[in-house]
Amino acid sequence: MSNQSIAVVGGGITGLASAHHFACKNRHVRLFEAAERLGGTIRTERAPEGWLIETGPNTVLDKANEFKRYLDLPPLAENRLPPDPRAKKRFLVRNGRLMALPMSPFSAITTKLVSFDLKWRIVRDYFFSRPRNRTEDLPLARLAREHYGSEFVDYALNPMVAGIYAGDPEKLSARHAMPFIWDAERTHGSIIRGQLAQARARRKAGIPKAELLSFRNGLQELPDTIAAQLPRSAIETGARVESVSRMDARDSAGTRWLLRWTRNGETQTEVFSKVLFAIPANALAELQVAPDPARPGELHTPLAQLGEIMSPPLASLFLGYRREQVAHPLDGFGALVPEVEKLPFLGVLFSSSLFPGRTPPGHVALTVMIGGTRQPGLADLGDQQLVDLVTPPLRDLLGIQGAPVFQKLSAHTHAIPQYNVGHGQYLALIDEFEQAHPGLGIAGNVRDGIAVPSCIASGVSRAEAML
Ligand SMILES: Cc1cc2nc3c(=O)[nH]c(=O)nc-3n(C[C@H](O)[C@H](O)[C@H](O)COP(=O)(O)OP(=O)(O)OC[C@H]3O[C@@H](n4cnc5c(N)ncnc54)[C@H](O)[C@@H]3O)c2cc1C
Repeated sequence: MSNQSIAVVGGGITGLASAHHFACKNRHVRLFEAAERLGGTIRTERAPEGWLIETGPNTVLDKANEFKRYLDLPPLAENRLPPDPRAKKRFLVRNGRLMALPMSPFSAITTKLVSFDLKWRIVRDYFFSRPRNRTEDLPLARLAREHYGSEFVDYALNPMVAGIYAGDPEKLSARHAMPFIWDAERTHGSIIRGQLAQARARRKAGIPKAELLSFRNGLQELPDTIAAQLPRSAIETGARVESVSRMDARDSAGTRWLLRWTRNGETQTEVFSKVLFAIPANALAELQVAPDPARPGELHTPLAQLGEIMSPPLASLFLGYRREQVAHPLDGFGALVPEVEKLPFLGVLFSSSLFPGRTPPGHVALTVMIGGTRQPGLADLGDQQLVDLVTPPLRDLLGIQGAPVFQKLSAHTHAIPQYNVGHGQYLALIDEFEQAHPGLGIAGNVRDGIAVPSCIASGVSRAEAML
C-alpha cells in the first residue's frame, strides 16, 4: 500500500468508480459523501406490495469498458437484466396520438410518422452532403436544421434530447452535447452516413453493439456493489466537504491538502496528498479553496463560474395501475413527447414492460419525466398537483381509466448539466483549475458526459491520471 492518502469527494457513481480505482491501485483512499447513502442520482426504492421504483436513471447502456468490468462482479453478473424483447418498440407523440417509431429501413420508408419532404431531405443529405469542418460551435438544432429542416428538429431531435438531457436543442452545443453528430458531419457530411460509418468502425474493431440493462433489484445494485469492494472504514457518509487548503510540504512527499468537512454541524479535518472531486457543477461552484500555504485563511471559490451551468429541475413521477385500467398494450420502451405537442411532460417510460418484477402481480407501471429545460417550473409542483396535471393527457394517449393505485414522486433540483453552446469555457476553467492546484482533480458529468457509463469512465480515467 502506497503511503499516499487520497480523498474522493462525492459518493455518486463517479466518486465510487474513482475510489474503487484508487483502491485497486493499492492507494489508501477515503470517500466523503454528504448524504447518508451512496449512489447519488442512482437510487432504487422498494414500496410495500412489490413496487420497485427508479427515482433517477432507469436504464444504462453497457458501453464503456470501465463499466463493463463491473458487470462480472457478483451479484451484478447474475442479476443483470436486459430489457424485455417485447419492449423493443419506441413511441412518439404526434398530433396527440402515440405512433411507433420505424424499426427497419423498410418501415422508415413507409412510415406515416414523418412527411415525404423529410424522407426526401434525408435521402438527399445521405448522398450529397460533403464533409464540413466547422470552426465555431453551434446549437444542435441549427446544425440539424441545415441538414434536414424543421420537421426533423421538432419531431426527432427535440424529443430525443428531452429524453437524454431533459434539454433544449436550440441551446445544447453540437460539439459538446452530441460529439458523435459533430464528428459525423466533419467526416462524412451526412449525419446518418457518418453514424453508420462510426457503427461499422466499432464492429470492425470488435466492439459489440451497446445494450441497455438494469439489475433484478434495480440500478442501485451498481453503486452498492462497487461500494462493497471498498473497506467500510474508507467511507464517510453524512460528511459534507466544505473546503480544501494547500499546506506546506514538510517532507519529500510533495503538496498536501487539508480537507475540511462537516457532519451534524461539527467540523472535522484530515490531510491528503490528493483530492478528487466527483460532485455536480453547482457543488463545485461553492467549493472553497485556499491555494496559498502562507495564507491558509484566504478561501476562494475558483470554480464559482460553474454555477452558470444550467442543471434544470426534473421530476420523475412513478404511477402504478391495475392492468385492466390501461387499454394500451404498453408493448414498448415508452414514448417521447416533442415540445410542439404542448404536453406537460417530456416522456413516459413503460417501466413494467421494460423489466420484470417492478409491480405487484396484475399491475403495470409508468414513469413520467416532467420539467427539464422545457418546463422547469413544473418539476417543483407537489405530487398530487403533478398527478392531476399529467393524468388527463396520459389517459388520452394510453386509454387509462381511473386514478393510479400507486404514485411516487422523485424530484431532482439540479438534475442534468446542460452542455449548452459555450460549454467549452467551463471545460477550460476546469483544466486551468487542475493545473493551478497540483493534487486536485475533477471527474464526473460536468466534463466527461452525463450518462452513467461516461461517469464511470470519467471516474476511472481521472483517477488514473492522478496516480
Ligand atoms: C432523473 C434522471 C434520470 C437519468 N436517467 C439516466 C439514464 O436513464 N441513463 C443514464 O445513463 N444516465 C441517466 N441520468 C444521468 C446520470 O444518472 C447522472 O449523470 C449520474 O448518475 C451522475 O453521477 P455522479 O456521481 O457524477 O453525480 P451524482 O450522482 O450527482 O453524485 C454526486 C454526489 O456528490 C455528493 N456531494 C455533493 N456535494 C458534496 C460535498 N460538498 N461533499 C460531499 N459530497 C457531496 C452528492 O450528495 C452526491 O451523492 C439521469 C439523471 C437524472 C437526474
